[in-house]
Amino acid sequence: MPDEDSDAFINEAETERLLAENRRPDPGLVREILARALELKGLSSPQVAALTPLSDPELLDELFTAANRVKNSIYGRRIVLFAPLYISNLCSNECLYCAFRARNLEVGRRALGLEEIARETKILIEGGHKRLLLVAGESYPAQRGFQYILDAIRTVYEVKSGPGEIRRVNVNIAPLSLEEFRRLRDSGIGTYQLFQETYHRGVYARVHPAGRKRDYQWRVTAFDRAMRAGISDCGIGILFGLFDWRHEILAMLQHIRHLEERFGVGPHTVSVPRIEPAVGSDMSQQPPAAVSDLDFRKIVAILRLAVPYTGIIMSTRETANLRRELFALGVSQISGGSRTNPGGYSEDGLQDDGEAQFSLGDQRTLDEVIRDVAKLGLIPSFCTGCYRLGRTGKDFMDLAKPGEIRRHCDPNALSTFQEYLLDYASPETRRVGEQLLRDALEEMEPMEKDKNEAMLARVRAGERDVFC
Ligand code: SAM
Ligand code: SF4
Repeated sequence: MPDEDSDAFINEAETERLLAENRRPDPGLVREILARALELKGLSSPQVAALTPLSDPELLDELFTAANRVKNSIYGRRIVLFAPLYISNLCSNECLYCAFRARNLEVGRRALGLEEIARETKILIEGGHKRLLLVAGESYPAQRGFQYILDAIRTVYEVKSGPGEIRRVNVNIAPLSLEEFRRLRDSGIGTYQLFQETYHRGVYARVHPAGRKRDYQWRVTAFDRAMRAGISDCGIGILFGLFDWRHEILAMLQHIRHLEERFGVGPHTVSVPRIEPAVGSDMSQQPPAAVSDLDFRKIVAILRLAVPYTGIIMSTRETANLRRELFALGVSQISGGSRTNPGGYSEDGLQDDGEAQFSLGDQRTLDEVIRDVAKLGLIPSFCTGCYRLGRTGKDFMDLAKPGEIRRHCDPNALSTFQEYLLDYASPETRRVGEQLLRDALEEMEPMEKDKNEAMLARVRAGERDVFC
């Protein structure tokens, strides 16, 4: 099965046409689409196009309310937490928005050795993390090549500290060949994450003037190769700020539908980074198509309605206040206590931007992020149960779509949060968290409550990694 030509599934003329036809959608039609979205079956491209121009405050409010209802009915109050682990900022590409681009001399270059990776991992484990996202530039240390990534993943999984360990390693690395994807699959990763950055071919060429990443087709077909290699959890994304967000989400929807048609399953997650200021990148200081906070909320709400079962990931890039609002609209996963410079966790204090990929909007510790999330009545989750029971890709979606998955996710969220509270939380976070657990149990139906209480009792009695 060869890579399909991307012209066959990313059709720019089609997105232009849909947006042109839907410049001023009738409020009646908008309300019909919102009502349809509440059936949790997703939205078609014309329906998504009709939601993009909304500006009337009343209709916007209805859009946000619908997104909030879909979010609550599928994801409940859970927010999954992870930490990025930057292992290398060596890169041979020239992405104009990124501090790691090859010709940027303002950034100190560093690829962590395996001992350093183990040290970083240990710190993250001791902070309470269970899920990592391993990130690297597109150039691996000489002699080691792609094996460097595989060795790094193995190293992370091998580190143990007290009762803790990393239970799921996701990766965000450059596109691979089919053979390399097979090796990546065998390393036991969770999600393979890759952002197209922009789906617009002209803009893509302008912002990627040199290096392997210039090749749009190679990048946009990466998930085809990953899925053919047996990696069933893929994480799609757009870097917002490069081109008109309306075109971008319609094109991403084409990409998602292509994967669904070809492999029977779409992406597991969608990431929504916005360009952040990066050292040595003029473009990052003034993004060509900057997305306002209001438009960003619209993006999250529309995606929540369009692909209701695909988790939405937001990173530390967004400030704490905006993150709070976006949880309500659809975000289901966030990073906490992050650093975007290789070795950043081992070095005390705040991030050193001289080696970082971009500046952080939020430099709070994981404990502070968790306390904040808990105070909002949301349940921080470190669950990795699905992945470890093989509920990935299509199997996951088959459970998620009829609403079955919550029977697993809700108890697993509570048990992993209980672990965190017992093993890592500060006294204040423990107090807030224990109250939240009590409240969550009180709201449950009797049978559900019994099952959840039994799992929590096992954790309190000293058992770890309790999941269903
Ligand atoms: N080098 C690989 C690649 O580009 O696919 C993977 C790692 S790269 C560090 C991960 C992502 O960081 C990129 O896909 C891009 O979307 C994002 N990124 C780059 N510069 C950024 C910036 N200034 N602000 C926010 N995100 C940025
Ligand atoms: Fe390199 Fe990725 Fe940054 Fe581009 S986005 S310069 S490929 S690290």
